[in-house]
Amino acid sequence: MTPDELKALVRTIPDFPKPGILFRDVTTLIGHGAGFAAAAGHMADRARAAGAEAIAGIEARGFIFGAAVAARLGLPFVPVRKPGKLPVPVLAMDYALEYGTDTLEVDPGAVEDGQNVVLIDDLIATGGTALAAVQLLRSAGGVVTQGLFVIDLPDLGGAERLREAGLAVDALMG
Ligand code: IMP
Repeated sequence: MTPDELKALVRTIPDFPKPGILFRDVTTLIGHGAGFAAAAGHMADRARAAGAEAIAGIEARGFIFGAAVAARLGLPFVPVRKPGKLPVPVLAMDYALEYGTDTLEVDPGAVEDGQNVVLIDDLIATGGTALAAVQLLRSAGGVVTQGLFVIDLPDLGGAERLREAGLAVDALMG
């Protein structure tokens, strides 16, 4: 499946979750069997090329793509979770949203020291979410040098911020 065919499977919804926001909705991509398989396959190829030893995904849509890639490669999956979900002492990181802040959490035991962890999420906008996840995974001992996304919104500068933090950034579409 070509990048254009994959892009055509992503639905764009105006004014969600707030007026003025153009929401890129990947549920139509994962709802298409061949499209989902192709997207996971492309991401798995890139993760393998980056030398991945574990795959981390950001809750919730990053779990869908990250888990598919991890299972495809036979690698461990590390969930980067919303607060209060993990049943063990966690590493936590606050990060800025457009209005207010949010928090992500990781089980420090889920990453081995020096393990090459490739980070996956559905979409990168400002990069704040992914950057918080990278910092957490690095605090847990991971070596994080590759971020993989289904969609990059380059005008918001997120990929650039991640590159400044030492990550190569790849996306299936803009
Ligand atoms: P950032 O922190 O500004 O890069 O925002 C990225 C995070 O917000 C990711 O976890 C995305 O899942 C979510 N996100 C932001 N905009 C969209 C969108 O248009 N569609 C789907 N997810 C989005």
